[in-house]
Amino acid sequence: MMGKIPLRRFLMLGTAALLIGSAFLPVPTRAKEKTEITKVPGAYHPSSQVGIKELHPSPIPRGKAKSNSKILGPSNPDYTMDVRYNSKKHRIDGTMTVRFQNDLNKKMKDLWFNVWANAESFTKQGGGVQIHQVKVDEYPSDFTLKETRLHITGLAIPKNDPVKVQMSFTVQVPEARDRFGWDGTTVSLGNWFPILATYDDEGWNVDPYFPYGESFYSLTGDFDVRLTTEKEQVIAATGTEKGKPKVYGKWATHRYIAKNVRDFAIEMDPTYKVKSGMAGKVKVNVYYTDKHAKFADAMLESGIDSINLFSKKFGKYPWPELDVVSMEGWFGGMEYPQLIMISLHEDPKEEWVKSVVAHENGHQWFYGLIGNNEYDEPWLDESFATFSEALYDKSLDSLSVSPPEEPYYHLSSPVSTFTARGEQGINAYYHMIYSYGASTLNDLRMELGNRQFYQSMQAYFKEKRYGIATTRDFIRIMEETSGQDLSSFFRNHRVYLTDQE
Ligand SMILES: [Zn+2]
Repeated sequence: MMGKIPLRRFLMLGTAALLIGSAFLPVPTRAKEKTEITKVPGAYHPSSQVGIKELHPSPIPRGKAKSNSKILGPSNPDYTMDVRYNSKKHRIDGTMTVRFQNDLNKKMKDLWFNVWANAESFTKQGGGVQIHQVKVDEYPSDFTLKETRLHITGLAIPKNDPVKVQMSFTVQVPEARDRFGWDGTTVSLGNWFPILATYDDEGWNVDPYFPYGESFYSLTGDFDVRLTTEKEQVIAATGTEKGKPKVYGKWATHRYIAKNVRDFAIEMDPTYKVKSGMAGKVKVNVYYTDKHAKFADAMLESGIDSINLFSKKFGKYPWPELDVVSMEGWFGGMEYPQLIMISLHEDPKEEWVKSVVAHENGHQWFYGLIGNNEYDEPWLDESFATFSEALYDKSLDSLSVSPPEEPYYHLSSPVSTFTARGEQGINAYYHMIYSYGASTLNDLRMELGNRQFYQSMQAYFKEKRYGIATTRDFIRIMEETSGQDLSSFFRNHRVYLTDQE
């Protein structure tokens, strides 16, 4: 993954140290200067400039707004897992039961899971997933696992019937400084288990893994996870630990309960120390190694302050806990529900650490609460998290980023638009989806005025929390709540509904 594209090529802004070629990390938002895309020799450059108008004669069709009655499911899946992690073998053996209702408004003949831990990024480093058995409603089912796509076939589940899927699997964790990988004594388990894919108007969403960002798309549900591992492991996880761990010889079994979350992540290290504080009623726990101890206070301060700030500006953080964990990733930070990974590999400045914590915490609102299809509409979480970071940094007033000169790239483009153009596209992805997107939201704040902007954001939060938002939803809610026609605003900022239709 990291060898494929030289990451340093993507350093494009003045504050280059911030970038570290990262997928998940916030792009510096204070850029006052006009941002230039690095031209990569050999990459595709169009021979002629095609105007935006020609590409999209009517970028935002008016009067054709779809209702909210679109298909989206299976909703509210209920996961029960019993997994064992052996840190000598770096292996997870587990069983999982997922219960849901067939709310797809048709007979369910097949079913898909995304198995992100089986992506090439991980298999070529020795990781990967084996699925041993799948049962649907107690009957063994046919299935195929091809890269990240697990397809369960031969089903005939009537509309609205309850469904129970059971599987057993082995997950080999690669040695990698990544959101999924082990490094020294630290184990990062992001996107590690087979997760139910989402069915919407486009059908099942089983998009490819995107190593420079996210292609995740899952609906909120509940998790009850029993994790057995060496008893000395110090564990951070989505949800809240229930009761005390049960110790058997050298092993301990922990149980975690999480409600209304769209994923379940774990981070552990026997050398972790924990420092906690409160943001109102929310307990913020910082997990850090001795090496990262000097950043513990900064992580805790930013964790608490950003929860308070975003709760006030966007809507209340609803879960009882947030875990901020230190690790040594190649990226800046990575968001999971109630758990954010902060990479301290390059011995960063304290201010940088606070900004990254604020960015990843912003994702608790934009991804965790207000969900989106991160492959089709990545701006709906990354631009908003970068805006949140600038809000925390008090640098909104200096946000002024120009879009890429190349009109091919839109703020509303799917990930595939960027990856289709190789390295140049990845470069443009960071520029567009992080920097220009945050700048666009700040332009919207100025267009509507502070008071109206945050009122509208709160309405967006209220309608879409625990759900899935689309670009269409965002525009509609901004227009309805402000009473303004914002079609030219979004068109001028390269936000086109046609990108998703
Ligand atoms: Zn982000």
